[in-house]
Amino acid sequence: MTLPKARAEIFTVAPYVGGESKLPGVNRVIKLSSNEGAFGPPPVAIAAMQEAAAAMHRYPDGGMHALRAALGKKFGLDPAQIVCGNGSDDLLTLLIQSYGGHGTELIMSEHGFSIYEIAGKIAGCVVRKARERDLTTDVDAMLALVSPATRMVFIANPNNPTGTLIPESEMRRLRDNLPPDVLLVIDAAYAEYVTRPDYDPGIALVNAGDNCVMTRTFSKIFGLGGARLGWAYAPPAIVDVLNRVRGPFNVSAMVAAAAIAALADEHWLIDGAAHNTAERARLAARLTAAGIKVIPSEANFLLLDFVTPERAMAADAHLRRHGIIVRYVKSYNLPACLRVTIGTTEECDLLAEALIEFQNG
Ligand SMILES: *Cc1c(COP(=O)(O)O)cnc(C)c1O
Repeated sequence: MTLPKARAEIFTVAPYVGGESKLPGVNRVIKLSSNEGAFGPPPVAIAAMQEAAAAMHRYPDGGMHALRAALGKKFGLDPAQIVCGNGSDDLLTLLIQSYGGHGTELIMSEHGFSIYEIAGKIAGCVVRKARERDLTTDVDAMLALVSPATRMVFIANPNNPTGTLIPESEMRRLRDNLPPDVLLVIDAAYAEYVTRPDYDPGIALVNAGDNCVMTRTFSKIFGLGGARLGWAYAPPAIVDVLNRVRGPFNVSAMVAAAAIAALADEHWLIDGAAHNTAERARLAARLTAAGIKVIPSEANFLLLDFVTPERAMAADAHLRRHGIIVRYVKSYNLPACLRVTIGTTEECDLLAEALIEFQNG
């Protein structure tokens, strides 16, 4: 008997494993495993989504005109160069389907975000990983991997799970030295948390040519991860491609309403970023003082290096006993590390106390 068979590439990837959210026998779980915003969704977004639900028998505006206009206004961009997606994962996958595929190579960094590899392999690309320096993207190592088959380069900046970034000058040097037919995708999921003045999320490079795309998300600082919304800022020819390949109604009307409301909330972004900057520094200082190696981060999480896998797993187990879930990042080839999301002040305190206890235990 011959049964339906999926394409062979599909079995080269393991299903994505997200951050856990439950611990058996623990009532109050502190979830610091998936980098969602610390404060829940913006209340104005909940209200807008509820209001929009009354019209959910209607299809959404597939062109997302109101949402793109709101994004353009907030970030000073031309709405015609914005495409929305069902999470930025949706857009990253569509870019790979459109510009990658069999016979092409995709370059990412050693500890780069896993979706590039998953979507790349499914599309049939050969995924090549450039070594990093100090857990940071190394432009020269990436350039050394370029071959005539290279079609795409993906960089999360800041990167997940390391939290490190490269400055605008390095990103520009990369773009300048890549062949013009190679698409550079800058995934700026954590852009809103960055405080370094030498950083650009990718807007300058998108504006500078026709071979660079920036992706952004509502899943992190905007607190809408469960709603699924991301957007890309791209040159017109790439916008045209994305609009051909995306699902015609890939963002729901409720999600669009929630996002427009979130964008209109003047304080949400500023307060969230200020909280993150302060708590990230405070947590890093406490953990460093306790003898834990903390990788300097520009995102809403810290990567902690416990030197050996055994010690990282023991720390993870200790945190679980305290009801705290973080991310063991073995699958990113960082088997001695845990990634911890910056939560509320109280959550950061409980995390710090549990890890200090672990260090002294
Ligand atoms: C969280 C994250 C995303 C966001 O994905 P969504 O599909 O928009 O939720 C994208 N890239 C990186 C590097 C991330 O960490």
